[in-house]
Amino acid sequence: MSRRGWPLFLQGQSVPCRLCGSLIPPGEAVLCLPWAPFPKWEPMANFESMSCHPTCWERWQFRERFVELFNRYAGDAVLDAGGGVAYLGADGEVVERQDRIRVR
Ligand SMILES: [Zn+2]
Repeated sequence: MSRRGWPLFLQGQSVPCRLCGSLIPPGEAVLCLPWAPFPKWEPMANFESMSCHPTCWERWQFRERFVELFNRYAGDAVLDAGGGVAYLGADGEVVERQDRIRVR
């Protein structure tokens, strides 16, 4: 998956929320975090590229830590606490912004 890509969702299929484990049915909002090059030993690596309920993300106890580490490792992308991402160009300018919450 490319850095700016999205997971492939099959139409009509539910997606498991990585944080609470319950299924997110079609028609409900899903937050899809982008990929980031976390080191394998970093426990937060288990959550990069995750799909989850936007509400679970807001309540997640490790959200701040995850955002901090994401931004340390990603280099060319800046994740904000709301789940949005700004992609940076070579000069550090924002070339694209994505709201990573999607309703399928
Ligand atoms: Zn959830």
